[in-house]
Amino acid sequence: MPHDLPKLNAFPVFMRVEDEAIVIVGDGEEALAKARLLGQSSARLRIIAPEASPELLSWIAANGAAHVAQAYARDHLEGAVLAFAASGEEGLDRRVVEDARALGIKANAVDRPELCDFFTPALVNRAPVAVAIGTEGAGPVLAQMIRSRIDRMLPPSLGSLAALAVSFREAAERLLPKGAPRRRFWREFFEGAPARAVAGGDIAAGHEAASGLLANPERAFGHVALVGAGPGAEDLLTLRAQRLLMEADVILYDALVPEAVVAMGRRDAERVAVGKRKGCHSKTQAEINALLVALGREGRRVVRLKSGDPLVFGRAGEEMAALRDAGISYEVVPGVTAAFAAAADFELPLTLRGVTSSMVFTTGHDLKGGSLPDWAKLAISGATVAVYMGRSVAAEVAGRLIEAGLPPDTAVAVVENASLAERRRFHGTLADLPALEQRHDLTGPVMTIIGDAVAGARFDRSEPLAAHRNLAVERIFEGSHA
Ligand code: SAH
Repeated sequence: MPHDLPKLNAFPVFMRVEDEAIVIVGDGEEALAKARLLGQSSARLRIIAPEASPELLSWIAANGAAHVAQAYARDHLEGAVLAFAASGEEGLDRRVVEDARALGIKANAVDRPELCDFFTPALVNRAPVAVAIGTEGAGPVLAQMIRSRIDRMLPPSLGSLAALAVSFREAAERLLPKGAPRRRFWREFFEGAPARAVAGGDIAAGHEAASGLLANPERAFGHVALVGAGPGAEDLLTLRAQRLLMEADVILYDALVPEAVVAMGRRDAERVAVGKRKGCHSKTQAEINALLVALGREGRRVVRLKSGDPLVFGRAGEEMAALRDAGISYEVVPGVTAAFAAAADFELPLTLRGVTSSMVFTTGHDLKGGSLPDWAKLAISGATVAVYMGRSVAAEVAGRLIEAGLPPDTAVAVVENASLAERRRFHGTLADLPALEQRHDLTGPVMTIIGDAVAGARFDRSEPLAAHRNLAVERIFEGSHA
């Protein structure tokens, strides 16, 4: 241990309090705060509050604490393991602490660190798991900030999973040799199939998975998570995606997935780029499917990262089918799709009361051929249309929609690099849209949103699309007026 590391003056321990008495002295808010904190334990609370506030009274009633409605006396501390002085009066608090010490009881006085034998931590409670945060008085704000960060990191189901682990502890010790095999079992237990079942709310299935694991500890259980990485900004990633990234052995990612998100995995995780990234050779869909299956068979934990939402133009259907056929377990984690990020960048309501109540996710690439695709009909009946991969077919999309009867002055919003700092926003009308094809300066991904709801967007930070109107546009204009 480096000798320049400062020493802790308060050392954390977990104290057994089941069925033990803890005394709180105080009538008001401070006493209530301590009651709430300690009420998360199975200790018996005794609250000395001759003039208890209505809030404290109702908390005591609701939580079955013992209420002593008398002025504090030393006898009230009898038999307690901890005492809290929360009266707000310095003299009384000091008396409580001195009496407690005389009786061999450790004491804490709210906001009077000099009187405290111990401090109370900020607590992340996933009973039976608890994370206690202490700052030795550097400040409750700091402790709360750390608390909320840890709280977000730990899945809500962790408590149930830990409780299940307790029931397997003895069997695991009996059946598995100490060392690597037992560690392997517990790692799989806490991150593999049992954990996933419990996270899904199915404790019985978790029990079953853990029993299977115990009976067959050598078997490798691979798992693939199809994870939405969001539109680009790394803080639009979900907490679940982040957790899975940290657990992954292998990360397969597409070209549009931001580096920062790929970097979030463990340092020793294997990373495989499978999508086209300027000039690099990309894998075919069949190769990706085969790779996912092979990794799953090897028992690896795989995160398949896709930009936006994995189920929106992500070819997830084919990957899921391959995994299903191979009998490999998988799950899907949604992400923020590009249409939502683009709408947010424009403060654009995708549904708008009295204007539009439906929306279409589409790509312009199904416009070839004679008949109008269904989405075009929906657009004409007022749906908001989000066009993915629409840059190279912008003229086709605009032309066909105008031909079909959508007014050329229908509002259009275009966002390049939605959600990112370097995003660019353009506004215009359907008649301006073909200009997009000529915008060779737009090298990032582009989202186009069409419809009357777009008129409700915020346009003061966007550039006009029309500045780049060209001959193709004029022809469409003329055509529609002929
Ligand atoms: N699954 C992804 C879409 C993949 S298809 C999702 O749900 O968002 C790729 C297309 O998505 C791009 O051609 C572009 O139209 C759109 N796209 C992805 N990220 C984008 C971004 N940051 N800004 C604008 N469009 C984006």
